[in-house]
Amino acid sequence: SNISSKLSFNGSLDEPDLDVDILEPRANATLLMLARNSETDTAVRSVRELEDRFNHKHHYPWVFLNEQPFSDDFKTRVSNVVSGSVEFGLIPHDHWHQPDWIDEEKASQARQKMVQENTIYGGSVSYRNMCRFNSGFFYKHPIVQKYKWYWRVEPDVHFHCDIDEDPFLFMENNDKLYGFTISTYEFHSTIPTLWDTVKKFIAENPQYVAKDNAMGYLSDDGGNSYNMCHFWSNFEIANMDLWRGEAYTKYFEYLDSTGGFYYERWGDAPVHSIAAALFARKDQIYFFEQIGYEHNPNTHCPKVAGLWSGKNCSCNPANNFDYSIYSCMPQWERIQ
Ligand code: GDP
Ligand code: MN
Repeated sequence: SNISSKLSFNGSLDEPDLDVDILEPRANATLLMLARNSETDTAVRSVRELEDRFNHKHHYPWVFLNEQPFSDDFKTRVSNVVSGSVEFGLIPHDHWHQPDWIDEEKASQARQKMVQENTIYGGSVSYRNMCRFNSGFFYKHPIVQKYKWYWRVEPDVHFHCDIDEDPFLFMENNDKLYGFTISTYEFHSTIPTLWDTVKKFIAENPQYVAKDNAMGYLSDDGGNSYNMCHFWSNFEIANMDLWRGEAYTKYFEYLDSTGGFYYERWGDAPVHSIAAALFARKDQIYFFEQIGYEHNPNTHCPKVAGLWSGKNCSCNPANNFDYSIYSCMPQWERIQ
């Protein structure tokens, strides 16, 4: 791999080294970012960091999605830092915008109430569009459809350690479906009726609930109430079969039909997390201790002996969100 990279560096300044590492196995996976043109600087920085820490050895293809056409500047600058192929996709109108059957009067009242309560993004329609898109549509995008695995990346995140083992292959070889690095509590005011809706769905569709599920992570009282724990979805490495399968498809349709993405402010993080915890076995969900990751204001920094020092980590191991009182790692660990 080193030799090939050097050859390509010495050989051509323009061509990406697509033809290297032919013998190294690779998963059917993409690095996926939803972004706005206004986020070009921070998008490029996130891409550059993940390339330096991981992808320069693998050349997984990148996909960028946006409900508006990406600017030439965005495309040129992103293309400049990727080590493999890259595609820029436009999100179909109906996969993004608030559906016509939503009662806008009711939705706007809900937004005003949430603004008064100081709920984060409470007044934003575009944030709600984004959450609904990330919950039920990104894996249906024509460009994304050909892939099985994705790694969700956001603008302005940081990858603090070398990632030597391929997380996609690790997950594939170990029968994992969903991977996370940070786990935290949702704000109750954004999802007041989500859990009741989920309970109704699983009462009507008990066949979708996995036997060895992770309900004990979501609930402290056997499923009666939701403890607000979720995997922080700005980082996700997952198998899209989980979202494309019958259980999640029906689940998303059921949730969406209540209008909760607009009448409340349901986040894709609790929507994904509840589904992963209930429809997958708990051993199919994986905590990536070894991946140093930061999304403002939280950082997961590897604490296991040797991981921090051995992987050139730039994060401060004393500043590890796992030990924060806002972390749900205790709930995750109690079910292991
Ligand atoms: P936060 O992490 O919850 O504070 O929300 P972000 O602002 O980081 O948004 C989450 C992801 O959705 C990021 O990848 C953003 O770039 C993306 N995003 C948010 N709003 C929009 C939008 O209106 N259009 C597009 N194309 N992407 C958006
Ligand atoms: Mn973000």
